[in-house]
Amino acid sequence: MDRPERERAASSARQEAAQLTAQNIHGVALTWVDNAGLTRVKAIPTTRLAHTARWGVGMSPVFDVYLTDDSSVMSRHIGGPDGDLRLFPDLDRLTLLAAQPGWAWAPVDRYEQDGEPYAACQRRFARRMTERAADRGIELRMGFETEWVVVRRGAADDGELAYACSGPAYGMARLVELSGYLRDVLEALAAQRVDVLQIHPEYSPGQFEISVSPKDPVGAADLVVLVRETVRAVSLRHGLDALFGPVVEPGGVGNGAHLHLSLWRDGRDLCRGGDGPCGMTDECEAFLAGVLRELPALLALGAPSPASRLRLEPSHWAGAFQCWGLENREAALRFVTGAPDDAGGANAEIKCFDPAANPYLVVGAVTAAGLAGIDAGLRLPAPVAGDPAVTGEKQPRLPTSPAEVLACFEGSALLRAALGDPLFEAIAAVRRAEAAQYEGVAPRDIAAATRGRY
Ligand code: GLU
Ligand code: MG
Repeated sequence: MDRPERERAASSARQEAAQLTAQNIHGVALTWVDNAGLTRVKAIPTTRLAHTARWGVGMSPVFDVYLTDDSSVMSRHIGGPDGDLRLFPDLDRLTLLAAQPGWAWAPVDRYEQDGEPYAACQRRFARRMTERAADRGIELRMGFETEWVVVRRGAADDGELAYACSGPAYGMARLVELSGYLRDVLEALAAQRVDVLQIHPEYSPGQFEISVSPKDPVGAADLVVLVRETVRAVSLRHGLDALFGPVVEPGGVGNGAHLHLSLWRDGRDLCRGGDGPCGMTDECEAFLAGVLRELPALLALGAPSPASRLRLEPSHWAGAFQCWGLENREAALRFVTGAPDDAGGANAEIKCFDPAANPYLVVGAVTAAGLAGIDAGLRLPAPVAGDPAVTGEKQPRLPTSPAEVLACFEGSALLRAALGDPLFEAIAAVRRAEAAQYEGVAPRDIAAATRGRY
């Protein structure tokens, strides 16, 4: 960031801070997401906002090699006790946190001390990839779904889960049981101007889901962080814990963080009105073919935890097969045509991703894979109908062990080039360490160790 840019940011932050103070907002939480998928924070008093916009706030780069259990490892470029970074809040995203009175929130970009962009900043990576798409005249719209399981406070720690409701999957009974809680979730999100599309009880015990309107890729990643922290805060106010781990109980249906995406050029939806499969344009088809091809490596970002391996089972609607289908919930890539008169209705959903993912890495890497598909003029294979585990149709299963996922990631020249060495190596180091950490650990213990961490 250059000097005039920082001066401008400081001057608008001064005005923001005055307004925040007038509204009794005393602290601003500045978040980013680490490579293990945990949202980390530095908070400042509102009175420091202008100073922080000008100079940033310090934070060690070591968090890029932190694991889910807060231990850390070394990677080729990052690790150890030395060095510092500056976190700069994106004040365009400054939001008053309705379920945390007195607090506001903003995501950050991370810079070196001398003001140079930090090579391993995940949010900057997402922005770079979005710009790469924009250079080709392509605008991407994305949105993450948020699934979570609600249990009575503290229940997650002692092994025995006490689900906060007992009604059936998708059951109105569950909504009635927790109507005050769910209303407060909606109220908090509305106060934060989050455009919620729907909220519903999901399949698993105590499970719910929220989906939100699509945004630009970085905006979608920011938004899923905000939605998750809002759900967490409202849950705590109700004496509940929100569990976002990929699996809560092994064998059951887990929590997904499906990514919806659509491509646009000059205001035209490239997912419809074309000659390709299901009305896709050639560009949309090639983009999705690029994503489909790269999925085994993308799992290291989108479904990264050893717990993710427990979720990604056939017949769990998680998308365990590397195939695509029209409205097929067992395909990793599900195409949705939407109602013919719904302008934004056509999109693709990547189902195999889960909430252990760093959403900035996900949107950036998916964009890189899709653009590579366009460059190579890829075509999609035939769509798959039904559950391959039931129909017996032979479809490639996505990697099933942490070691296999890591090998696919490390073998991806595409992702290495897109992420850049420092970020790529840090991610690989975290995956390698978590794979070793949970090797031979019983699924039940993996679930218990991870379900409350994200
Ligand atoms: N909870 C499922 C998952 O693990 C998804 C259910 C659905 O299709 O919404 O991804
Ligand atoms: Mg769902």
